[in-house]
Amino acid sequence: MDFSLTETQRAVRQTFKDFAEREVRPVAADLDRNPRFPTDLFARLGHLGFFGMRYPEPLGGGADIFAYLLAVEELARASLSVAAVATMQSLMGTYFLHRFGDERLKRRVLAPALAGDLVATICMTEPNAGSDLLAMTTKAAERDGTWHLDGQKTWITSAPVADVFTVLARTGDKELSVFLVERGAPGLSVGRAIEKMGVRAALTSEVFLDSAPASCMLGPRGAGTEGLREVLAEIRLVTATLALGAGQAAFDDSLAYAKQRMQFGKPIASIGAIQAHLAEMATRLAAARQLINWAAWRSHQGEENADQAAMAKLFASEVATEVCDRAARIMASYGYASEYPIERYLRDVRFTLIGGGTSEVLAINIARGLTR
Ligand SMILES: Cc1cc2nc3c(=O)[nH]c(=O)nc-3n(C[C@H](O)[C@H](O)[C@H](O)COP(=O)(O)OP(=O)(O)OC[C@H]3O[C@@H](n4cnc5c(N)ncnc54)[C@H](O)[C@@H]3O)c2cc1C
Repeated sequence: MDFSLTETQRAVRQTFKDFAEREVRPVAADLDRNPRFPTDLFARLGHLGFFGMRYPEPLGGGADIFAYLLAVEELARASLSVAAVATMQSLMGTYFLHRFGDERLKRRVLAPALAGDLVATICMTEPNAGSDLLAMTTKAAERDGTWHLDGQKTWITSAPVADVFTVLARTGDKELSVFLVERGAPGLSVGRAIEKMGVRAALTSEVFLDSAPASCMLGPRGAGTEGLREVLAEIRLVTATLALGAGQAAFDDSLAYAKQRMQFGKPIASIGAIQAHLAEMATRLAAARQLINWAAWRSHQGEENADQAAMAKLFASEVATEVCDRAARIMASYGYASEYPIERYLRDVRFTLIGGGTSEVLAINIARGLTR
């Protein structure tokens, strides 16, 4: 495996690093304290081409998986909220539109979504169907040639401001199909944003469907389960990279702090206990990065990478959570103060333990792969 970056990958990373440092980091704390959808940054990311990156060239993409993940990491280092919103738009919010939309739909909905002019969502989770998506009860029934949806979704990222909703609904006993429902459809309503401990500017809310008409079914009937399976590895690679970015940000801050914080007449970075923290953090982050690269490499080569992506997500999210915790210990009272970003990283990073599959569920998936 050759993980040295190409010129294009370096250029992409620099572009998003500059953008994240100049435009995202300065507003990250305020977006957390006064949670709101990052409207301006969202539009800027659309203009920068982030949302289309993982799609084919005619849609503004053509970047490889490594370049995309480098961009994701840079955004996550500056604000996990902004990175979560951005990756929702570039991956799950638009995935089924791209995979199954006809040319007209792609022109009308996908192209503006990738340009940052429309906000897109994925509606899978329900109050009683989280890890167990097959337990969902939202139903779709066809009447007079139109599919109507009934049910309730929850934890839907960007829903409070969304224009389009990709909704998974039951069309048969074990059959999940995918529908596009658009804001303004009668019977579609969105609850207020759920207050949460982290990624607070990645607004999430409930979505209610009361005989809401779908604009169309995306893909053939029953495409939901297989469609999700196809994209699962990528969701996990992206979530692993969100975690890596947050962990790296916490590490960078605590290393810089340890070098300049003087106690007992010397920088705390020269104290063995602090060095042990720093060494563990750097080593584990490096290992997480290599796991992500390994899973991404397999995807790049067109090889099956579901197990590797699950391992990368499990490891990176646990490591990043631990790194944020260790960073807070190194910074002690300063890590506890709202004035510094460490406490935000600590809160934000826990999202990566949940999104894309919880650690417990991933462990089961990995074990299943091993014993297959
Ligand atoms: C910030 C945020 C944004 C989100 N955005 C979206 C979104 O845009 N769209 C969307 O559809 N969903 C979204 N979700 C929902 C997310 O996908 C679910 O929260 C996740 O799938 C877990 O479901 P749950 O919270 O219901 O937990 P549960 O599935 O109820 O799990 C509870 C506990 O039981 C464990 N558990 C469950 N099943 C098993 C099992 N078989 N074996 C072992 N342990 C198990 C879990 O690991 C966990 O510890 C979001 C969630 C968050 C926090």
